[in-house]
Amino acid sequence: MRLALIAHDEKKDDLIEFANQRIEDLERFDLMATGTTGKRLIDATGLDIERKQSGPLGGDMQIGAEIASETCDGVIFLRDPLTAQPHEPDITALLRICDVHQTPLATNLASADAVLDELVDQVQGEA
Ligand code: PGA
Repeated sequence: MRLALIAHDEKKDDLIEFANQRIEDLERFDLMATGTTGKRLIDATGLDIERKQSGPLGGDMQIGAEIASETCDGVIFLRDPLTAQPHEPDITALLRICDVHQTPLATNLASADAVLDELVDQVQGEA
């Protein structure tokens, strides 16, 4: 199963902490991330993560394309609700395509735990 990880700049530290706490669960997945998020996560956790473009350069759209192709099973996207993002249209499109394809999407740490728990259950069911 394939899982996408994204965090806005103000939330990257939170995602790194989450990844460190749940590293054994995350290792079960084929992981991808937007560029800067991926680099920070790889450096901090050693997880094997495919890096897409940085978000402002199209990384959100690349992940959205995978959701449209149904090659991505879930998204953890820690958004910063307080800071305007230059690529807001791309972010909105990513959220929309998750809804179109019924792809589980978490946008904060509380829902990230819930989505990851559910996907881990599904992985265990497949094993
Ligand atoms: P980044 O992109 O991981 O390259 O910072 C995330 C985003 O802004 O959507």
